[in-house]
Amino acid sequence: MIPTVGYAALAARGDLQPYRFERRELDDTEVLLAILRCGLCHSDVHMVDDDWGFSPYPLVPGHEIVGRVRAVGPRVDRFRAGDIAAIGCMIDSCRVCRHCEAGLEQYCDLGPTSTFGGYEPGSQRPIHGGFSSCYVVDQRFAVSVPNGMDLAAAAPLLCAGITTYSPLRHWKVGRGTPVGVVGIGGLGHLAIKFARAMGAEVLAITSSAAKRSDAIKLGAHEAIVSGSSDMSGFAGRLDFVLDTVSADHDIAAMLDLLRTDGTLCMLGLPKSGFKVPPMRLETKRKSIAGSIMGGMAETQDMLNFAAVHGIGADVEVMPIERINEAIARLKRNDVRYRFVLDTSSLSA
Ligand code: NAP
Ligand code: ZN
Repeated sequence: MIPTVGYAALAARGDLQPYRFERRELDDTEVLLAILRCGLCHSDVHMVDDDWGFSPYPLVPGHEIVGRVRAVGPRVDRFRAGDIAAIGCMIDSCRVCRHCEAGLEQYCDLGPTSTFGGYEPGSQRPIHGGFSSCYVVDQRFAVSVPNGMDLAAAAPLLCAGITTYSPLRHWKVGRGTPVGVVGIGGLGHLAIKFARAMGAEVLAITSSAAKRSDAIKLGAHEAIVSGSSDMSGFAGRLDFVLDTVSADHDIAAMLDLLRTDGTLCMLGLPKSGFKVPPMRLETKRKSIAGSIMGGMAETQDMLNFAAVHGIGADVEVMPIERINEAIARLKRNDVRYRFVLDTSSLSA
């Protein structure tokens, strides 16, 4: 067993505390990563707070992991000791269903195995996440970080990046597509960067007036404040909207921004659902859709695309010892635009 140190919540809504546990030894096709940086996603906070009702404790969150390969199993052929590699939201899937065969592991018929917050299939062994010193993962579920990428700016790409890139690709956003991004947080600020790099006409929709000028710097052509009179000026103008908001909000108002046949794609996972008057959909044949994460091959594509276009997250790096301060500030919407924890003190 591999002794590991990390930070765990011991109960719902509890502060994270130093926590020791063990990772299993490497299998033939697995790699051992010494974790260097790990992003703090709002999903980590939802899980710590048990917003979705299935969090196990002790819970070591973290699923935007970048680290250095320390060891590889004898049948590993994609990584060598010393490489910089990364792990995102999932660490396994059934590998044989139609989704896995199509590179859509995130929609695996058996459900993908999450990077933290569950149990190893067929056992009672908890799976702990990236707020820790190391991780053991099958090479299929690790990706290579392109040379020269800043590690902290790269880490959030592993969840926030792929979660926004995948639907932009699926809904064929390209040159000239009018796209809206609702919520300028970890996901939203990367959605703006990716959509812009794909050639879209980007409208940012924020609840924080103070973020409007940032949104333009991030690549949006225009930025408006949700719930304000700005909204009516953009009614019926967008083909596609990505909604990344982490809390309850007015979804119907976002639908009104769509043209005929437009799609509102939900990415946020607030704990309660939403209500939409059907009339707001039917009168212009609009759709509400959802999307989660992205497949492994697509995650590597996204990283390569990010490297070519110079895309990384705007980050505030914090030592892992200050994780509770980072969580408290994220809950207050006080970060521009992603906290990344420096875990190197744990790996030493
Ligand atoms: P985040 O950094 O906290 O960003 C969320 C943004 O939502 C905030 O920056 C804020 O943007 C807006 N917002 C927050 N509270 C609001 C409120 N009460 N009313 C209106 N707007 C509000 O969170 P994140 O890490 O980007 O994650 C966003 C959501 O996506 C979370 O629910 C997370 O669990 C989910 N998620 C889903 C997937 C997936 O695969 N589908 C993957 C990762 C995360 P403004 O200040 O601009 O309004
Ligand atoms: Zn996430």
